[in-house]
Amino acid sequence: MSKILPVQKNEYIDVVFEDLTHDGAGVAKVDGYPLFVPNGLPGEKAKIKVIKVNKGYGFGRLMEIYENSPDRVEISKDEMHKYGGCQLEHISYEGQLKYKENQVRQVLTRIGKLGDVKVHPILGMDNPWHYRNKAQVPVGEKEGRLIAGFFKPRSHEIVDTNESLIQLPEINEAVQAVKEICNELKIPAYNEESHNGVLRHIMARYGKQTGELMVVVVTKTTDIPQKNKLVEEIVARLPKVKSIVHNINSKRTNVILGEKTKVLWGNEVIYDYIGDVKFAISALSFYQVNPDQTKVLYNKALEYADLSGEETVIDAYCGIGTISLFLAQKAKKVFGVEVVPEAIEDAKRNAELNSITNAEFAVGEAEVVIPKWYKEGNVADVLVVDPPRKGCDEALLQTIIEMKPKKVVYVSCNPATLARDLRVLEDGGYKTIEVQPVDMFPQTTHVECCAKLVLKRN
Ligand code: SAH
Repeated sequence: MSKILPVQKNEYIDVVFEDLTHDGAGVAKVDGYPLFVPNGLPGEKAKIKVIKVNKGYGFGRLMEIYENSPDRVEISKDEMHKYGGCQLEHISYEGQLKYKENQVRQVLTRIGKLGDVKVHPILGMDNPWHYRNKAQVPVGEKEGRLIAGFFKPRSHEIVDTNESLIQLPEINEAVQAVKEICNELKIPAYNEESHNGVLRHIMARYGKQTGELMVVVVTKTTDIPQKNKLVEEIVARLPKVKSIVHNINSKRTNVILGEKTKVLWGNEVIYDYIGDVKFAISALSFYQVNPDQTKVLYNKALEYADLSGEETVIDAYCGIGTISLFLAQKAKKVFGVEVVPEAIEDAKRNAELNSITNAEFAVGEAEVVIPKWYKEGNVADVLVVDPPRKGCDEALLQTIIEMKPKKVVYVSCNPATLARDLRVLEDGGYKTIEVQPVDMFPQTTHVECCAKLVLKRN
């Protein structure tokens, strides 16, 4: 017989929130049974409705808060912003930073058994709003008008919005202008269900250091009705535009960008700087979305690498070579590895753009390429990793342990896999000296960290 649960579906109960999950929901416990409730904050006493019960945990909806947490702030207008990814908008920025820093400490202790590692106070932004340099906004139609904004959570309904609180003003302005122009020119929106229509997404990217704007119109069709007029109007209304690109995505898919791009006006790329390094950004390139905090993070990686100019460095998971090129300024030689061939093309181009000659890039999986290099006798003094959310592959960690670089710098976008991988490296002879959380994505639940490890003497 199954155990009787302490709560039942549709029951109303009073709870006190004890914690936040990694995706920002409040956690309350009833006789040890955890309930996850979006919008609840630690310390708050509240009435909730139980909406789902599983064997080991359940979900609730917040009905009434009896006492607000001091970290709670009024959310600006309505819930709309949450759809745009601002999951923590109801928490003061100070509260968000505290929550993220705690989360890093907790997982390092719980998963990494690294309770005594030095975790520095998180580096936040002076102004935690309007920081994103890129938007990809889905387009739809409502009552005969073209609308663009966000998808409602767990649905494909588009909410028409003109302002995202986390996008740079230039990005908001660009999306709004393109939306207005398309409406005036009566360019039809794409319809997901019927797979008819034209305009799927409006995308904008902005080089904050250079003031260069790129507009990308993503359509299902190969042609855009009123194309010349569209370009003319974009150029007239957005003086910062340097590049207008047409991307064609004719498939039935959730993937935003198709493979074909055509430059409609201006350049193929826009430029931006992180520190002194210049980057060319094309419509399809990966580029960090918070340029100010990227500089903070990379400077930390550079500090932790502690280069004298004599070192050989490997940058695993190098993307378009951002960290590699940053490190190349201070290293003898940098080798970058990345699985996406187009990103490696960008990395090579970016090295040339900066006249950096001591960086080389290879396409492949880090866990395949680096062991191969090691077998061939190529070792690094410093190894940098910046893996995706799932963390480093076990084979790569084993190679690091065998290769014994003096220092490892681990840049991570997921504290849980960071903690897991640090434990493996610790058991393999490394010591984690310090961890620096950096808030790359204010108002969202994402936490970025940079960790410094050194090889213990045998
Ligand atoms: N360091 C870069 C990119 C980090 S994102 C920057 O800061 O801009 C992680 C990168 O790892 C992505 O570019 C992704 O394509 C790449 N990647 C994912 N799995 C990989 C693997 N197994 N081997 C090498 N690269 C991989």
